[in-house]
Amino acid sequence: MTDATHAGGAEAAESGMPTNFIKKIIDEHNESGRFGGRVHTRFPPEPNGYLHIGHAKSICLNFGLAQEYGGLTNLRFDDTNPIKEEQEYIDAIKEDIRWLGFDWGDREFYASDYFEQLYKWAIQLIKDGKAYVDSLSADEIREYRGTLTEPGKESPYRNRSVEENLALFEQMKNGEFPDGSHVLRAKIDMASGNLNMRDPVMYRILHAEHPRTGSAWCIYPMYDWAHGQSDSIEGITHSICTLEFEAHRPLYDWFVEQLGIFAPQQIEFARLNLTHTLMSKRKLLQLVNEGVVRGWDDPRMPTLSGMRRRGYTPEAIRDFAERIGVAKNDSLVDVALLEHHLRQDLNKRSLRRMAVLDPLKVVITNYPAGQTEYVDAVNNQEDPAAGTRPVPFSGELYIERADFMENPPKKFFRLAPGREVRLMHAYYVTCQEAIKDEAGNVVELRCTYDPATRGGDSPDGRKVKGTLHWVSAAHAADAEVRQYDYLFTEPDLSNLPEGKTWLSVLNPESLKVLTGCKVEPALAQAAPGERFQFLRNGYYVVDPDSTADRPVFNLTVSLRDTWAKMQRKG
Ligand code: ATP
Ligand code: MG
Repeated sequence: MTDATHAGGAEAAESGMPTNFIKKIIDEHNESGRFGGRVHTRFPPEPNGYLHIGHAKSICLNFGLAQEYGGLTNLRFDDTNPIKEEQEYIDAIKEDIRWLGFDWGDREFYASDYFEQLYKWAIQLIKDGKAYVDSLSADEIREYRGTLTEPGKESPYRNRSVEENLALFEQMKNGEFPDGSHVLRAKIDMASGNLNMRDPVMYRILHAEHPRTGSAWCIYPMYDWAHGQSDSIEGITHSICTLEFEAHRPLYDWFVEQLGIFAPQQIEFARLNLTHTLMSKRKLLQLVNEGVVRGWDDPRMPTLSGMRRRGYTPEAIRDFAERIGVAKNDSLVDVALLEHHLRQDLNKRSLRRMAVLDPLKVVITNYPAGQTEYVDAVNNQEDPAAGTRPVPFSGELYIERADFMENPPKKFFRLAPGREVRLMHAYYVTCQEAIKDEAGNVVELRCTYDPATRGGDSPDGRKVKGTLHWVSAAHAADAEVRQYDYLFTEPDLSNLPEGKTWLSVLNPESLKVLTGCKVEPALAQAAPGERFQFLRNGYYVVDPDSTADRPVFNLTVSLRDTWAKMQRKG
């Protein structure tokens, strides 16, 4: 397994040592008094898509640290690119953070709230000779920038006078120039070994409506110019971001230093990568737009809305985030670990129900015709308070087709001709005959039951090896069950086999819709979002598409815990 999963650790927690390197940094700050003991973090999503499980890691980290140190966390929308940003995403992001269990109080901010202040600070830098208007094209700017091994070249516009820069910048702001004709750049060092310090662009012209500021602005700040200054304005002490911003930190520090404003500490950590899972919003948007999935909340998506619809619990996601901890090196975490935490949580809370996904009819030939009786079934053996429910039993039932074999191999302990098994919570039954259609398919079983075995135990101590789930044919509800598998067949999407692209490794079997499933009547009334364990089948949740006539269930996760198995072996 990857080192990220071993970060932190129980010993460290018990000894009072910080369990991750970020806490160590905060402790040092608290000791030196750099922030007067304050811990103020922020979660800064760009509203250009829905949040995914990677964002959840960042949310748990930022809110979790503030909680632990008695501090605060702001929600700040990084809305500096109006072309890709939408209100729908803002609303969804808020809903998802709340669902995860975190609260930003009244501290909902937007980078766009600071456009005016950022503009004034840009003028200050121009006046100080630390910023200039460049009129090279985007391609030329890229060309002049140089490479890791070659220094950049100074733009011919770099030495414009302060007056000229001020006039041009104002004209840019007033909409007198077309997109792409000019930019404002910081004047730092075109020969710097750090490409981010080679006169980074601060503003670009973009004649676009902004969801919040409308047409008030046609110049928009770049991430590097907006982010640190927004942190500073909000008094953020620890600005936690992912590793790719490590090389931006000198620029982050440079801006606050030139402006002489409050200086937060940027800290980088490794982003979460999961096997079989894609986390680029751009690619997730493509899956939505091209109809590969049914929407951002498709239960196969790694989005929080998709995982919610899939039946994930916020507790399971938070436990997972805690378990993987934070690391300084990029790593790939096995999705089986996430599923392990999910099962642990669902096992505690899910009511058990019987659902037959691929029904085979069973007729009990010696059961009194027309009779129904109710057997008591335990709702959740992990939770005695969940009680029991009455389940109707009658002479016509359904079992899973896979629970019968005409010519069973040695290790098959379920139903076969002449074989006796237990029907869970009910009776022992013995298969007397398999009825076939003309094509030779088994369409019905004729069985006898032993009335002395009511409740599923034999008074004479007779043992059976198989226990099957079942539903009464006359009482069962018809249901649709959606079975899911990973969206991608390859585990490591950042390192695909040669010749493969992410779109070529989509799993054609990621969704299978089963209709005509037979579920016990108690399931027909379940409301969307209710979670169950279908005995012997897996954990399921009621989908919002569900109606009283046709309940719809999503497979959340199977019962088989591959992570626990790996741990036992390892
Ligand atoms: P994109 O997919 O466009 O690169 P992004 O990941 O930069 O998007 P943001 O909305 O800017 O998306 O992310 C908000 C916060 O979530 C940032 O602080 C970012 O570092 C963090 N974050 C995003 N993805 C991950 C991830 N996989 N693991 C941990 N943190 C993440
Ligand atoms: Mg980003």
